[in-house]
Amino acid sequence: MARCLPAGSRLVLASHNKGKLREIAALLAPHGVSAISAAELGLPEPEETAPDFFGNARLKALAAARAADMPALADDSGFSVAALGGAPGVISARWAGPEKDFAAAMARVNVGIGAATDRRAWFTCVLCLAWPDGTSASFLGRVDGVAVWPPRGELGFGYDPMFQPAGAGETYGEMPPEAKHASSHRARAFAALLASCFE
Ligand code: IMP
Repeated sequence: MARCLPAGSRLVLASHNKGKLREIAALLAPHGVSAISAAELGLPEPEETAPDFFGNARLKALAAARAADMPALADDSGFSVAALGGAPGVISARWAGPEKDFAAAMARVNVGIGAATDRRAWFTCVLCLAWPDGTSASFLGRVDGVAVWPPRGELGFGYDPMFQPAGAGETYGEMPPEAKHASSHRARAFAALLASCFE
């Protein structure tokens, strides 16, 4: 049984990614938990050295919980394409390079898919809640869909404009935030976290 976060708790959001911070803050807002970001506390960004989403989420959450001496929530997530064997996956951020150029990252994905007819793609999110004593609990969310080209829409962040979830007519880049939050990989991981960790 994971530890609980009573209403009125404070936690650190262990991310420096503005898109993720915006989405996680919106997911937390109705639950009486206030959040401060790692950037606001001046915490360093740990290097993501684990080979998978679970390892990186835990490493980020634990580093922030210990540095801030309060519970911390981290997100490790990525975009995967079947025709690329699941790449870029856990290294999705790295495909955008130091300039965080997601137009270039999306173009690289599209070149990789080439003429393949298999356009299946998915987003994965692991949320990890950690405490300064080293306790942690992790939760997985995934959404399946297709990789479209050209990218569509200016909303969201990262690879959103080239991902169309199954059953939707719009990409995440075209959907209003409320529609993405209703069923995204992050929202699904958050629902599992909520069920286990929130009082
Ligand atoms: P990391 O979790 O810090 O390794 O970064 C994950 C990367 O995956 C982000 O920088 C985005 O490029 C991508 N990503 C994760 N979630 C989303 C999303 O909801 N929309 C678009 N891109 C995402």
